[in-house]
Amino acid sequence: MNIRIGLDIGSTTAKGVALDADDRIIGHVLNPTGTAPKDTAKRICDELSSLGQPSAILSTGYSRHLVDWADRSITEITCHARGVHALHPDTATIIDIGGQDSKAIRLDTTGGVADFAMNDRCASGTGSFLDAIARRFDLNLEAIDAHCPPDTEPLPISSTCVVFAESEIVGLLARGEPIERVLAGVHAAIASRVRILVEQVRGTDPIYFSGGVAQNDAMRRALENELGRPVTTANHPQLAGAIGAALLA
Ligand code: ADP
Repeated sequence: MNIRIGLDIGSTTAKGVALDADDRIIGHVLNPTGTAPKDTAKRICDELSSLGQPSAILSTGYSRHLVDWADRSITEITCHARGVHALHPDTATIIDIGGQDSKAIRLDTTGGVADFAMNDRCASGTGSFLDAIARRFDLNLEAIDAHCPPDTEPLPISSTCVVFAESEIVGLLARGEPIERVLAGVHAAIASRVRILVEQVRGTDPIYFSGGVAQNDAMRRALENELGRPVTTANHPQLAGAIGAALLA
């Protein structure tokens, strides 16, 4: 069987998807990118290649250029747009929050990129803020939304830098503030930075949320509060870029 492989080698997580001739997902792999992104990409590609004969391989993501055996490499903006549009053809705007960057992408009516804005400078608007808080306070990142129930009043986090924000949070907890309100504040802080990106691209509805952080429903709710508009989690949110890459392969 002929297959097409999309590899999204992100700064935090490497993702691979294999599609059959009818664009059905027949396999996917997700691994930490680790310290040797090229080796990680090779392992994922080899695993997916066992499902069929790859007729095309396309790479995307932060380390896409290391995948020198791919037929092509394309930016994650284009791949996310293609992937989310394939999963949700009514998409007008995508919010993608990954490990080290966040993006807003406005689509045209055909699913092409009309405009995009990206934050890859400041960790406090990305998943790495949540990663750092989860590590520091020994919380399970996969269940972080359980620590942050809906309608929790967020405590303002004024530090704009993750390192200082960690100290600020230690101080809030020492003052007896509940972790729920602190975490709601962290989500609200990230959402306020992402709102700027959505405004920059003049994002319209419907808005879909992709990237690894989209698995955290507290983040989706914080975005809805900040934007005052509905935000829907995309299907397979962390695989959207790899799906787009496989479709474009
Ligand atoms: P990148 O492409 O930049 O590597 P991803 O889109 O793969 O980023 O997202 C990685 C981030 O997703 C991690 O840094 C983490 O914050 C978040 N994440 C991963 N899995 C989960 C989960 N199950 N629940 C909540 N957040 C998650």
